Amino acid sequence: MRIYTLGGFSEVGRNMTAVEVGREVVIIDMGYHMDKIIGMSDEEREAPLPELRKQGAIPDDTPLKGKNVIAIVVSHGHLDHLGAVPKMADNYPKAPIIVTPYTAEVLKRMAKEEGRSHINNRIVSLKHNTPKNIGKNFSVELVYVTHSIPHSAMVLLRTKEGNVAYLNDFKIDFTPTLEQPFQKQYFKKIGKEGIKVLLMESLRADETSRSSSEKIAKEMLKDVVNRAYQESKNNAVIVSTFSSHIARIKAAIDINKGRREVIMLGRSLKLYTGAAADLGLLDRSKVRVHTKRKSIINVLKEVEKDKEKYLLITTGNQGEYDAVLTRMARGEYPFNWNKNDEVIISSNPIPHPVNIAQRYVLERMLRERNVRIIDGVHASGHARKEDLRDIIRWLNPEILIPSHGYLAKTSALAEVAMQEGYELGKNVLLSTNGKVWDIKKG
Ligand SMILES: [Zn+2]
Repeated sequence: MRIYTLGGFSEVGRNMTAVEVGREVVIIDMGYHMDKIIGMSDEEREAPLPELRKQGAIPDDTPLKGKNVIAIVVSHGHLDHLGAVPKMADNYPKAPIIVTPYTAEVLKRMAKEEGRSHINNRIVSLKHNTPKNIGKNFSVELVYVTHSIPHSAMVLLRTKEGNVAYLNDFKIDFTPTLEQPFQKQYFKKIGKEGIKVLLMESLRADETSRSSSEKIAKEMLKDVVNRAYQESKNNAVIVSTFSSHIARIKAAIDINKGRREVIMLGRSLKLYTGAAADLGLLDRSKVRVHTKRKSIINVLKEVEKDKEKYLLITTGNQGEYDAVLTRMARGEYPFNWNKNDEVIISSNPIPHPVNIAQRYVLERMLRERNVRIIDGVHASGHARKEDLRDIIRWLNPEILIPSHGYLAKTSALAEVAMQEGYELGKNVLLSTNGKVWDIKKG
């Protein structure tokens, strides 16, 4: 068995791994490097593949040239795992794209948005926890995990040379607000069956303790929304979170309890909540959604007249330059801000200089308009140190390859594994992009 660690092993972003058994290869994830993509114009994003690869915006898949790729499996709908599929899947025309139903829906909508009417590869929608045979050497199962987007999965590949588990991204949440709790017993069962190699995220391996449940984030949001409503008559209340965070968006709508009319503003909100509504994960029937400049400007004029009648949910929680909240703060979308208006930011800045700088600029612009900012209303979707330790104990893999981070992150997870009895270089392997690992049988 060979494992190709192609992307996300020297940085946070552009995740891609491939597993080869016999003469067959299965690719897991094809993500964008978000920091690189954020800084690009629409035109630059349409550059030919070699150019995008050179820029580091997409993974470098050249080690797979000439290989018999039989499937592309994507763990969940976040762009650092899924984003490069519409660009790169053409390199593997015969490989079906195997994903959970929500990810399938997001992918179809994304391909349309990118100006391509379709993805040529067959998209296979596979429900959680149902193994499916692919090729001669593999069976694939998308094992349910809790994360910050619906239908996330651990990719489990069963092969005659041993099982490979790919756990990017997840948190252990026993009280989520949208889907089922994390299935600890099922994980233990998979562990008993035997895991040859576990590739596991290390994004927050350097943070102590455990991640908080989404239930806590919902309670925090409830508290601040209720106080914003009580605080003042005729104030604007705006909530901004990740567009793909359906649990959080649903929480905002639930908490509102019909007291105000909910209006969503922004293209990515339409995409992700539309996919969720189609699958019955979110009731958007009473929500107006606007994406075009003209209609956003018109709707903001309407809101201005009677602010207390509306709850706005907008894009821009990271201060992205083109997002609705940022444009409102900049004055590009005119809005009559006043000192009683509240902007609730239900996320933390992604810990990267670009995001931190953009968020800083957003907050400064809002402060200059005397708007009240309520930030940090959030619980992360990623596992921390003690969660990761739980997984190592439950799955008990023979070999661990930390993923989803640069060396400072991956080595933090390696350290946890070493505390659990693993040996660096022997059964915990620190990888980098482009490395190929030969895993011996037995
Ligand atoms: Zn994710």
